[in-house]
Amino acid sequence: MNAYESASHYFENAASVMDLSPNMKKLLSTPEREVKVQVAMKMDNGEIATFVGYRIQHNSARGPMKGGLRFHHEVDSDEVLALASLMTWKTAVVDIPYGGAKGGITVSPKTLSSNELELMTRRFVDELQDVIGPDKDIPAPDMGTNSQVMAWIVNQYERYHGFNPACVTGKPIELHGADGREEATGRGVGLLTEALLAKDKRNLQDTTVAIQGFGNVGSFAASYIAEKGGKVVAISDISGGRFNSKGINISAALEHVRQNGSLKGFESEKDISNDELLALDVDVLIPAALGGVLKKENAGDVRAKYLIEAANGPVTPDADQILTDRGVVILPDILANAGGVTVSYFEWVQNQQYFRWDLERTRTELKKKLTRSFEKMWDIATEKHIPLRSAAYLMGIGRVGRATVLAGI
Ligand code: GLU
Repeated sequence: MNAYESASHYFENAASVMDLSPNMKKLLSTPEREVKVQVAMKMDNGEIATFVGYRIQHNSARGPMKGGLRFHHEVDSDEVLALASLMTWKTAVVDIPYGGAKGGITVSPKTLSSNELELMTRRFVDELQDVIGPDKDIPAPDMGTNSQVMAWIVNQYERYHGFNPACVTGKPIELHGADGREEATGRGVGLLTEALLAKDKRNLQDTTVAIQGFGNVGSFAASYIAEKGGKVVAISDISGGRFNSKGINISAALEHVRQNGSLKGFESEKDISNDELLALDVDVLIPAALGGVLKKENAGDVRAKYLIEAANGPVTPDADQILTDRGVVILPDILANAGGVTVSYFEWVQNQQYFRWDLERTRTELKKKLTRSFEKMWDIATEKHIPLRSAAYLMGIGRVGRATVLAGI
């Protein structure tokens, strides 16, 4: 099953619980607009390179469309569409006034020089500038993109439409980014892990955690959990995983990555593979990297009691069934990693008002938004005796559906 088939399965599943009419189902699963562009440019060596870029605008019933841009060699239209639909439900679950979109370029950004990356980003904006904008569709970082890429986007967009930092979020602070946006997704993962544990009268102090992926999401989640006294026994990145039964020193790991570019060579009790990490005997497992890492073949190996989907789509439907049957509690991506887009919304609000919040306010508002959404999802799941994922989809689809009906076609 590819990413699109997985996302469709979860949508169909929820739609059947909701008794959604076939017409509404069709409307909500069909993207509003799919843009595929050629991004042609001259490389440093003078040769011409051609990349393919996408922006898929899934749904705008609740507001301008919102979602990240991914630069990764596996990006294709199926993946972008799946991720765009997840954004529609995610923004609805946390009740921020947006629809959903996603974009990306099929490229391995590490193979480009900084100049080439900048040029490619600017050329991409040239192709997209008329379909994006603060009241239309607002891009943000995702895998392979960061605040520097967002800075180039805001600058290139400005050449067509004038100064307007609200056209993209996840910008550097110096260019009207929000304090707390960078940490937001990982912090949200940490906050929601605490909220989930609290339902079983547990807390982070007595909890062991394994985190797959030590990028923007995994590293901030690890820092938050470790700060709150949780024992992060395993972390990993493309160089593999590190295990330490006494708990990994997360600040030392961050420093190592800053100096060496990856976890390679970081001291540990035992080096493990990314697959072995998923099967560790821990309380909480947090896949925070690629999609589709838990599938039919390895879902049975998971020993954690709680699985927090910090990545988008890390669990395939087959695996979801196996894990749920075994009593693993899965906190679904459309809430688990929604801290990022929530603080993107705060950034956009600040840009529209030309007024800057301090970090404390951002953190307080983030916690409020996520906790409220979590409690609502929990109540629906308890009341209807359904898994958390179905409850989150019910919330998301319900809000988008009602907005669609009220607005009229
Ligand atoms: N790429 C992030 C996500 O998947 C953030 C999107 C945003 O901030 O718009 O949720």
